[in-house]
This record gives sequence, C-alpha cells and structure tokens, in this order.
Amino acid sequence: MFDKILIANRGEIALRVIRACREMGIASVAVHSTADSDAMHVRMADESICIGPPPGTQSYLSVPAIISACEITGAQAIHPGYGFLSENANFVQIVEDHQLTFIGPSAEHIRIMGDKISAKETMRKLGVPCVPGSEGGVPDLETAKVVAKDIGYPVIIKATAGGGGRGMKLAKTESDLENAFRTARSESKAAFGNDEVYIEKYLTTPRHIEIQVFGDGKGRAVHLGERDCSLQRRHQKVLEEAPGPAISAEQRARIGKVCADAVAKIGYSGAGTIEFLYENDEFYFIEMNTRLQVEHPVTEAVFGVDLVREQIRVAAGLPMDLNQDTLRMNGHAIEVRINAEKLPNFAPSPGTISQYHAPGGLGVRMDSALYDGYRIPPYYDSLIGKLIVHGRDRPEALARLSRALGELIIDGVDTTVPLFHALLREEAVQTGRYNIHWLEHWLETNLG
Ligand code: ADP
Repeated sequence: MFDKILIANRGEIALRVIRACREMGIASVAVHSTADSDAMHVRMADESICIGPPPGTQSYLSVPAIISACEITGAQAIHPGYGFLSENANFVQIVEDHQLTFIGPSAEHIRIMGDKISAKETMRKLGVPCVPGSEGGVPDLETAKVVAKDIGYPVIIKATAGGGGRGMKLAKTESDLENAFRTARSESKAAFGNDEVYIEKYLTTPRHIEIQVFGDGKGRAVHLGERDCSLQRRHQKVLEEAPGPAISAEQRARIGKVCADAVAKIGYSGAGTIEFLYENDEFYFIEMNTRLQVEHPVTEAVFGVDLVREQIRVAAGLPMDLNQDTLRMNGHAIEVRINAEKLPNFAPSPGTISQYHAPGGLGVRMDSALYDGYRIPPYYDSLIGKLIVHGRDRPEALARLSRALGELIIDGVDTTVPLFHALLREEAVQTGRYNIHWLEHWLETNLG
C-alpha cells in the first residue's frame, strides 16, 4: 500500500480523497494555486505545496508542477479527482514514466473512451447498445445530410472530443442542419482544439441513466447499479439519485451485467461510469467516464461502499474488495449540486462566505470545502457543495432532503439552494416522472 498520495485537485473532491487516505492510514499531499492558499483541502491535508498562479492552466493543469510536487514530497501515487487532469491520457503516461502510480484506469482506456467515436465503436463491439448514428466522424455537410436523412430527424451533432455539454447542436429538420453542423464544429474547435463531429439520433424524451462500474484491471469487474441524472440544465447534471425511479431490478441486473462484462473484457481498472439515455425501456450508450464522478456518493450511500478506498486499493495492486454476489442496494439516495450561482441566470457568484452551517442527522452527508470566512475564488468551477441524503425509500429521501436543505446555511454568496426548495414542491420531482428536458422547460416557465 502507498505511504503517501498526492491529490491533484481542489475543493470538495480533494477533501473526499484526503478523508479516504486518512481512514486508510495514508499520508496526503494537497497541491494548490496561490488563490487557494487558505482553502480547506490545504488545511486538511497532511502536507501542502503551491504549484502556481490562480489560472487552472498554470496550476491544477500544470503537469510539470504536479510531477515536481510528487518528487519533492515523496508521494508515490496521484489521485486526480474529477475534472482537471483526471481524463488526460498523456498525463497518465507521464505519471507512469516517472515511476509514480496514477489512481485510475490505464492511459489506453482513457484514450479510447475520451474519443467518443472510438468509445462508441468499442462499446458496440462489446455488446453495449448504442444510440443510432454515424459510423465515425462526419467530415462535411454533404455527408451530414446523408447520415441525418438515413437515421431520421431530429438529430444531434456532437463533438468527438466533447465534454461538459459543449459542442452539441440539435437539428430538427434538414434546414437546421447546416447551421448546427457549422456551430458544433466551431464550438468544438474552440473548446477542445479539435473540430471533428459525429451525428446521433436525437432522443426526444429520454432519461439519463448511468451505470457505475468497477474493475480490478485483471479481468474481473462489478457494477453498482444505476444513477438517474435526468434533471439537467444545459446538459449538466443538477440532481442525481439512485436507484433510478424508472428502472426495475430486472433491468438493473440486465444492463449492469452488460456493463460489467464489457469492462471486464477490456481489463479495465478502477472506477468508471457508463452513461446511457433510456427511452421506451431501451438503453442507448452515449459515453463512458473513466474517473470518479461528482455524483458517486449516491452510489456509496445505497451500496454502503467507499469507492475512493476501492480505487486506492486497486491502484496499489490489492484485490478488489467488491463482489457482485454480496453487493446489495439499500434504500434511496439523492444528491443535489450546490453552486455559487445567482438565479435566475445561474451567473457565477464568487465572494466571501460570512456564515456556513452544514446540515446533519440521520442519512445526511455534506461534501463541501466551505468554512466561515472562506473566500470563493472566481477562477474555478462554481460547485461549492454536494448534499447527499439517504432514506429507506424515495419519499423518505425526499423528506430528508427538504429537511436538510432547511438546516443548511450558506451566507455571503448566492447559491442554487432556492432552486432545490422550489423543485421539491413539484409533482414531477415528487413522483420521479421527468426526462432530460423537464428541468429546462420548468426553468423557462418558472424563472424565465
Ligand atoms: P458531455 O460529454 O458533453 O457531457 P454526453 O454525450 O454525456 O456529453 O451528453 C450529455 C447530455 O446531453 C446527456 O445527458 C443528454 O441530456 C444530452 N444528449 C446527449 N446525446 C443525446 C442524444 N442523442 N439525444 C438526446 N439528448 C442527448
């Protein structure tokens, strides 16, 4: 087992990893930019090291700075969290070239899944059902027209290198196609430095269902059920829950097995998430994330497992402690993402936290790096906390969420907490009857 792990991240996820390290008796190293000198992850880690100025590109994304930090502190392994370098295959290669361990899958698996076309091709070959669409990239408008006509409108044009909901454009009819094709390409070029796009059938009323998988890198893998992440704004998740209100035990076992078998077959190592759109009882693969997800705590709550501990164990070459036969789902969990943003436009709202009080009690988990007097810097993601509740069933989890949100105090900045209070009053949320478009419509009607 490692003696010391460096966490190449910040905020709540850095804390999450530090906590796992501490419980496992492993020393932790925090890295930080000059904007984060007073951040909670720096305070909480056993050691910390400054790796550059505020912009992420010069600090949390600086590979030389992070490798040097490992060498200076004697850390043997790097946990990337999510975002930043977590899905950067070149980084993983460099880490390994320095005889350090990357806590995550191999560079090869990250590379395959990071390119959405090769990801789809790989999954299709492994027997995972995919969204109908183009075979590979679509080089020009003429080809796009032929493909779109073939699969039938509406279609969605997506960036091969996509992520974070960017570079995605809808074409309802052929007259929309030219504009959508060009915008998707230019957005993709600007965001990812790569303008390759592909086309998929646009599903009109799907839910977003994702399967948590975990592999030992030696051909054994398990699944930990699904998370329903259909409440989205601009293709970004806002609330996640497990189990999915629309998924039966039989469906879970079936798609779970397909996913576990697929990752076992490629010898996948560590945590991964296979994302699907789900419509009319069918699953359609859209992408795989080769890292820990923001919403991993809902799975931890219903399965009673520590996914980060498991990631660290498998990276250290220990046997995976998860067994499909003994994994049992228990109750219902919901997570809400609390962002420092001002409604109704969700404009970033950095500033100083004048008062912070986290909710507690049975079945409540608050993952946040906030504290009284903390200054939220304007340089990074606006996620400032995740509130996760667990109950015996969905109604209990909803009641607990409402109660916990009522206890939460975050003063000094605007947050998305009022959105959740309002959503909890909605019948669609209470009954779980929503698809990936529901929240956008609701926002237009209620906040627009
Ligand atoms: P990203 O990597 O940018 O997050 P994804 O492929 O994971 O992109 O898609 C993100 C979201 O976009 C999905 O959860 C869904 O809401 C929407 N989406 C993606 N593909 C389709 C599709 N074929 N039809 C309808 N909606 C889609």
